[in-house]
Amino acid sequence: MRIAVLTERASGEERVAATPETVKKFIALGADLAIEAGAGSGASISDQAFVDAGASVGSAADACKDADIVLGIQAPDPVLLAGAKPGAWVAATFDPFRNGDLVQSYAKQGLEALSMEFMPRITRAQSMDVLSSQSNLAGYKAVIASADAYGRAFPMMMTAAGTVQAAKVFVMGVGVAGLQAIATAKRLGAQVSATDVRSATKEQIQSLGAKPIFVESVEGIEGEGSGGYATEMSEEYQKAQAELVSEHIAKQDIVITTALIPGRDAPRLISDAQIASMKDGSVIFDLAVSQGGNVEGSRPDTPVEKHGVTIIGYSNTAGHLAADASALFARNLFNFLSAFWDKDAGKPVLDEEIGDAVRLTQGGKVVNERLKG
Ligand code: NAD
Repeated sequence: MRIAVLTERASGEERVAATPETVKKFIALGADLAIEAGAGSGASISDQAFVDAGASVGSAADACKDADIVLGIQAPDPVLLAGAKPGAWVAATFDPFRNGDLVQSYAKQGLEALSMEFMPRITRAQSMDVLSSQSNLAGYKAVIASADAYGRAFPMMMTAAGTVQAAKVFVMGVGVAGLQAIATAKRLGAQVSATDVRSATKEQIQSLGAKPIFVESVEGIEGEGSGGYATEMSEEYQKAQAELVSEHIAKQDIVITTALIPGRDAPRLISDAQIASMKDGSVIFDLAVSQGGNVEGSRPDTPVEKHGVTIIGYSNTAGHLAADASALFARNLFNFLSAFWDKDAGKPVLDEEIGDAVRLTQGGKVVNERLKG
């Protein structure tokens, strides 16, 4: 069983899909690990550290030659995988709804694409869930980056020269990233409020010591679809939400938006008029910027100044914490493959519940139900 790990090639991608820790663990299961030279450099892992853990290090072609499994953060161009075994597995993120051509090319090349974003939201898969592990770090980074761009302090300070007011932070969307954003802003001493369309988040917001801001006027809103994900809201709800947010946002210093709906563009939460209502020097961080954006006019990786407000958003927020993000991502991949390791076969054998959920291509075809629909 040969497992290969390549250097990520997407622009700005500093993460790596294995660490010396997971290399050792895979070797303990009986696998050989082959890593492309330089793969870990963005995450502060040297080639020597991989060699010390027991991996071989070489060119991309060397690493892929006869590989049974290739691990990636973002799915590699299948051209790089020409030397892998027929039917080799590739476990990585594929962004399958938006990368139809890439998925087709994996099918054509006879590769088995395993999309880590499609990991089902069930208890036993929590430790395999890359969306959660990366969103958590992204929520933290969004607050740190906003604090850095904000020309004032976060905590209240009473000094001999006078009092510095605590920053007001509003978090929109309280999934994994939003919860970590609330916790981080609280730790920095801000006054924090938050909103979501799922009513279950109200208690979570309160338990972190933040204030929930919820639409109460529209009845029958639960907002929760399968797997804990949000569903798209009615027009009536969207209107009520916009009014509530308009009132609240004008009093905020920092707004962190994290709202996503799987398989669709991110919902628009903040309009240009709402930005104009904010105080000069305020900061908005749009964590959904690469999925279409929650904020009108936000641009990936390019800060935008509008009406005296700075709008920030990274195309790859977790990638800005490459060492920790790699460590967690690599563990998610190890937890996934090791949970299915069949000692007699010397390789992982997936079950239906998780295997069918994550498998995009097999035997030359696209096989995933979510992509067929
Ligand atoms: P997500 O990234 O899909 O979306 C982020 C948040 O935006 C969600 O809370 C969503 O409700 C919210 N949102 C969507 N539209 C909105 C709007 N118009 N206004 C305000 N907010 C809006 O969410 P996520 O981080 O993946 O988490 C969703 C849920 O799934 C959470 O409850 C989380 O705890 C749960 N979860 C479970 C597992 C598991 O059981 N294995 C793993 C991960 C997450």
